[in-house]
Amino acid sequence: MNYDFPKIDLHLHLDGSMLPETAWDLAQSQGIDMPADNLESFREFIVVSADCRDVNEYLRRFDLPLQLLQTGDALTRVSRELVSMLAKQGLAYAEIRFAPQQHMKAGLTQDDATAAVLRGIREGQAKTGVGIGLLLCAMSYGDASLNREENVETVRTADRFRDKGVVGVDLAGYEGMCPVADFAYVFREADKYGLARTVHAGDSMGPQSVRDALSFGTKRIGHGHRSSDDPALVKKLIEEGITLEVCPTSNIQCQTQPSYEAHPLKRLFDAGVRVTVNTDNMVLSNIDLDHEYDICIEKMGFSRNDLIRMNIYSAEAAFMAAGKRDAIISELRRLLDAD
Ligand SMILES: [Zn+2]
Repeated sequence: MNYDFPKIDLHLHLDGSMLPETAWDLAQSQGIDMPADNLESFREFIVVSADCRDVNEYLRRFDLPLQLLQTGDALTRVSRELVSMLAKQGLAYAEIRFAPQQHMKAGLTQDDATAAVLRGIREGQAKTGVGIGLLLCAMSYGDASLNREENVETVRTADRFRDKGVVGVDLAGYEGMCPVADFAYVFREADKYGLARTVHAGDSMGPQSVRDALSFGTKRIGHGHRSSDDPALVKKLIEEGITLEVCPTSNIQCQTQPSYEAHPLKRLFDAGVRVTVNTDNMVLSNIDLDHEYDICIEKMGFSRNDLIRMNIYSAEAAFMAAGKRDAIISELRRLLDAD
């Protein structure tokens, strides 16, 4: 179905949203070996199949996209194409995220990678009304000290580009290899510059990771659905007005929830938690936001009004300019009243 109210995606990874034909094309032009003989079988390879065992297996699917995205031109192209895709899907606003430190293998600096992505975003936005913010991800590869220097540099890069389209920082990557709490240094650095933040937590790791993330002063949690295992934490999320960026299909594919029907999204919404619906990885998961809304209505018990309400939560939590935010929220409220 096509949903005609203003739609917002707060949780969308650039490298998980590259079109298979673009990946194929980049591999040909860069002379990179592909795990398939033709575009059709490559398309099958890149789209996550249901046998993805867990979130870390899922993340290994990013190895190839990352290999193809080591030049400024490639980063600009996929960013431009993603923004055009979002505009075509009728989104009002989206926050795209990527980790600049993963794009330095061919000599780019984090500044170069960020500038290339911002160029693509501007080009993609040129003929559309879609609002876009860019989040820079610090990475967890395991032990938190492994890439400490790169993570600190990511935060400093975010500060340098904050008036040019970067709206905040994130912590992403492998979960479960060390406590989220060990990454406090990333957010102490972000505090120095007053940067907005969100943190991946409560997906493959349980409620404690969400508590750790909240100790960094974040008002948003990437995923966070596992908070439902802990009633005291749910109460805290409600009291503190924390927004969860939930990505239902990603959770099912990573098997951090057993099924759409058993997913706690609706229970959290009914309890009063500010939950939102997002795509995580549009191409790797082979979905768009409308698909996720269909699932919400058909399998998770939501109404169209609930979807509008969750978009109001998204707008309120988004790192966007106040004028744009107010316009989106009043349009959503008008549609809510009209129903
Ligand atoms: Zn994510």
